[in-house]
Amino acid sequence: MADIFDKKPIAVIGEMAETGVSPYYRTAEPNAVMAGCNDYLGLATDPRLIDAATTATARYGTSCSGSRILNGTLPLHEELEARLAAFLGCEAALVTTTGFQANLAVGTLLGPGDAAFSDMANHASLVDGVQLGQGTRFRYRHGDLAHLRRLLAAAAPDAGKLIVTDGMFSMEGDLCPLPGLRELADRYGARLVVDGAHDIGLLGARGSGVAEHFGMPGAVDLLSGTFSKCFGSLGGLLAGPARIVEYLRYSARPVLFSAAMSPASAAAALTALDIIETEPARRERVFDHAERLHNGLRALGFATAPSITPVVPVHIGRSRLCLRMWQALHDAGVHTNAVVTPAVPRGRALIRVTPQATHTDEQITRILDAFAGCGRRLGLVAGRAERAEH
Ligand code: PMP
Repeated sequence: MADIFDKKPIAVIGEMAETGVSPYYRTAEPNAVMAGCNDYLGLATDPRLIDAATTATARYGTSCSGSRILNGTLPLHEELEARLAAFLGCEAALVTTTGFQANLAVGTLLGPGDAAFSDMANHASLVDGVQLGQGTRFRYRHGDLAHLRRLLAAAAPDAGKLIVTDGMFSMEGDLCPLPGLRELADRYGARLVVDGAHDIGLLGARGSGVAEHFGMPGAVDLLSGTFSKCFGSLGGLLAGPARIVEYLRYSARPVLFSAAMSPASAAAALTALDIIETEPARRERVFDHAERLHNGLRALGFATAPSITPVVPVHIGRSRLCLRMWQALHDAGVHTNAVVTPAVPRGRALIRVTPQATHTDEQITRILDAFAGCGRRLGLVAGRAERAEH
């Protein structure tokens, strides 16, 4: 009889053993430049957030010890929801324990007979959210509006339709084609859900996300998001028309049956929102750093994506080589992310670099110098190279 615990190890485990490189579940070295986290605005260590979290903990304790619906709602959650709705230009908002849960809750909208249309590069949480829903699921090629149009046209005309996409994609830093998505949603009577996990706080002059970036306020029917990136905290959000937010409040199981965002997280997120609204220079700074990194890496001969966002993907190719590059950068005092299969297709491994508004110009130089030295040593870019055996 099969033992359910007998699992084939995933490929990267073997690749880590072969290369002797182990980039995952690692604590970052204290003196390394952190170039692999999503705290784009550098708020997670901001004294104002720390102070707000400390004060809220002293006042309300360390945990809500229960779900929002029963005992876990604090004035902090209510204030955060009201502030978010105003900031995002939506009628209502609901905060959840994580962004992953906010995306799982999206599946609640899909009943039997409905149809979901997802971008193939969507974040795992959005994929799982759609999977939790009922009805038929379609996946369109990444950013491919013609493919999406064909799928929409072929679906039952009377089916309820939901298009789901990341706003800014987490691996390559590119943006969803919002104008085309809105047009298709209108043409085929679909609703459009955008996961703004990476772009809320970052994109647009006010930082309200991808719709503002495209100059299309109100273009998104339902927004999801997270406080674990630009907000330097932990938690998630859903924002949209009051009637659908109310529906999710009472029907979304990931919301109903999980403990509320902690007082510290809610207070930190509120303070982060103050800063996002009043300190646009942070956005400018992180985009300046991103531009320097994109240009610098390209000048060195690395293949980065054409996108200009602060997710800077450096395409390496094979997983083993990517692991070796990660280790070399690590040894040079730069912490990055090694992104290999299954997070990206086989042969498309990449090193993801993410600057923060709080990085100094010298730290960006240090990142570029590390890429230059390590890339040459491993034969990834021209220069004095010893070709790595891979
Ligand atoms: N959506 C996207 C696009 C993400 O990158 C992430 C986090 N990696 C999430 C959702 C989940 O957010 P959280 O960390 O709050 O669970």
